[in-house]
Amino acid sequence: MLPKLAYALSIDDVRFGVYPNKVRMVLDLSEAADFRSFVLNNPERLVIDLPHFDWKAGQVDKPSQAGIKDIRQGKLMPGISRIVFDLDKTATISTAYLLKKNKNKSDRIVIDFDWRAEVSGKNGEAKIFGTLSVESGGGYTHGGDQDGARITKAGFVIPPVKPRNTDSAAKRYKPLIIVDPGHGGVDPGATSGGSIYEKHITLALSHELKRQLESTGRYRVELTREKDIFIPLKKRVEIAHKHSGDLFISVHADTIHKKNVRGASVYTLSREASDEQTAKLAEKENRVDLIAGLDLDIEDEQVAYILGDFLMTETSNQSKYFANMLVEDMKGSGVKMLQNPHRYAGFAVLKSPEIPSILIEAGFLSNKNEAIMLNKPEYRRKLARSIVIGVDKYFRQMQQN
Ligand code: ZN
Repeated sequence: MLPKLAYALSIDDVRFGVYPNKVRMVLDLSEAADFRSFVLNNPERLVIDLPHFDWKAGQVDKPSQAGIKDIRQGKLMPGISRIVFDLDKTATISTAYLLKKNKNKSDRIVIDFDWRAEVSGKNGEAKIFGTLSVESGGGYTHGGDQDGARITKAGFVIPPVKPRNTDSAAKRYKPLIIVDPGHGGVDPGATSGGSIYEKHITLALSHELKRQLESTGRYRVELTREKDIFIPLKKRVEIAHKHSGDLFISVHADTIHKKNVRGASVYTLSREASDEQTAKLAEKENRVDLIAGLDLDIEDEQVAYILGDFLMTETSNQSKYFANMLVEDMKGSGVKMLQNPHRYAGFAVLKSPEIPSILIEAGFLSNKNEAIMLNKPEYRRKLARSIVIGVDKYFRQMQQN
């Protein structure tokens, strides 16, 4: 036997979190490392390539709902090792990124996948996540299996992977954005005191946002409601899960007793409100289910489950990151913003455990001028344009990570 080399990098633990429509895999690393991840078909596998590592995760717990049949790992070629997860069925990775260590948590790789069929390019190439570059044509052994990944349990080598163009592969995946027009049907939301209703403004602005996002060719968009109907808050969150959204944007407009106050603002979820006005706003937005006679008890249970989960922290960081970026882009596009335009509180509609979620209050219907503006297609086009800029920046950043 050759003496076993010790590498600086080690995989210390692998965990799975199972959600209604998604599995989240977290790998604890001894230090930050470049990686790349993708799926392979026939047989179905999910692959992670990393610089050579020591496997210190031992026997990994595989919850049956995670769909993992087996885990293998070993060297792929000089400098590169591979972990192969054998899957029950075809999977699609929705996101994969490295989280740098913080407090008592180590550097981690987070990979979300679900059971949609993979949308592959014309050469059958799956989308590749991560930045690790793997040279082809090195001095490593070619095995029989053309698509790579025949690594034994003992952890030794094998065949090369076809060179893949990461940039073009990444470009092929279109993130799914869930746009959520607030209120609707029996619930008009805020009103201008005249004929302008929040539920109509939010629907018109959401349709415009969908149109503009789709016309970039970079995104898919689903609305939680297409017309003037009532949808409970919990149902809106469920719709986002059902479609495996990559980003959730809830669209609203507000009223306030001070008629001179105007400007847009952006909200993220938090247990504690940033200020009293936002606490009241969240209370008001959360009350709509009561107005329609729904019971909120189930919602409370969900909150307890979600906020207790460490995964929520990662989603919440992404939500805040997007919100901060968005307020700058809205400002930069000449949209009048409230003071401290990124605020937070316990909005029920933002409680997805795995989808970064924000709520936009487009302006105040209690302000006569702003109500008139929001009622005009030109202003809604301008608002939507500023949101698209923020969305573009966010996904560019996510892809780089
Ligand atoms: Zn509202």
